[in-house]
Amino acid sequence: MIDINKLVRKNIKNLKPYSSARSEFSGEAMVFLDANENPNDTLFNRYPDSMQYELKKRLAETKEVEVNQIFVGNGSDEAVDLLFRVFCEPNVDNVVQIEPTYGMYEVVANINAVELRKVELNEQFDFCADDLLAASDENTKLIFLCSPNNPTGNLLNRNEIIKLLNGFNGLVVLDEAYIDFCPQASFLSELKDYPNLVILQTLSKAWGMAALRIGMALAKPDIIALLNKVKYPYNISSISQQKASWLLQREEQKEQWVTTILQERSRLIDLLKSLPFVQKIYPSEANFLLLKVHDANGIYRYLIDEGVVVRNRSNVQLCSNCLRLTIGLHEENTMLYEKLKQLI
Ligand SMILES: *Cc1c(COP(=O)(O)O)cnc(C)c1O
Repeated sequence: MIDINKLVRKNIKNLKPYSSARSEFSGEAMVFLDANENPNDTLFNRYPDSMQYELKKRLAETKEVEVNQIFVGNGSDEAVDLLFRVFCEPNVDNVVQIEPTYGMYEVVANINAVELRKVELNEQFDFCADDLLAASDENTKLIFLCSPNNPTGNLLNRNEIIKLLNGFNGLVVLDEAYIDFCPQASFLSELKDYPNLVILQTLSKAWGMAALRIGMALAKPDIIALLNKVKYPYNISSISQQKASWLLQREEQKEQWVTTILQERSRLIDLLKSLPFVQKIYPSEANFLLLKVHDANGIYRYLIDEGVVVRNRSNVQLCSNCLRLTIGLHEENTMLYEKLKQLI
């Protein structure tokens, strides 16, 4: 059984966090003269709730977890950064990730001066727990997985994830940014059994709130408390908290969007199959497709000239000549296909 206290950096364990004026007081007040705010009501003159209580209550209902199992960050990237700052001693500790995957883990590792070890996925873009464990040592604090993975689109093997959770003495960070497109595959229900599991989710994709910058880490309360201890006191603006709380009530809308996007994904696959320069369309559980083509750089530039931006992933390991296409609106997907057809 892992001891989170042994995993934490000493300076963080001993840290006395900043105590904001508003967090020291709880109860009903009529007059707030504690935070040096402008007293005139501008809608924005008061500091936001540093613990995002209303938003977390909504998220807890939506995700079916407790409020104290949720950290809310300024995008999931904030949670990634805080995990490094809480658990990884610069120039001493290391982290392990699959490759290829989301590029942000590596950037954050570099910013924090923490060694990042990459373990290449197999031909099916899947992994073996034993390979990741073999790449780790006593200084490995975090292992990053992403499922469905970006940019490959596939889910990682569930049994291997379980094996890793059981075999690793640090934290397994499982990025589920795209899980709303295949909700049955989520590990949320495993949180109760695995004290070393941290799940990352976001409102930026299926929920349609990328501009609000709301990401989450979901884990046991002891891990969440550590992230809260280190975060900036007012990391989520009041506009973001309010809008997100309000939009979370529209779960049916989100489900409808997901259904349409999945239908469009199938339709686009059928269209793209007919193009002779498309070598392979990788199976996807997310809202994008990874495509192997004859000349990714050429097609990428051609599409840019036509006013269509896709993601060129051809420099990524195992993804030579690959483009990543986000599923757009019906007419946008049709336009993409029509432009590509002209290349024949
Ligand atoms: C898009 C994406 C995110 C979301 O990041 P936010 O900062 O929450 O917008 C996280 N992880 C992966 C793998 C992504 O592709």
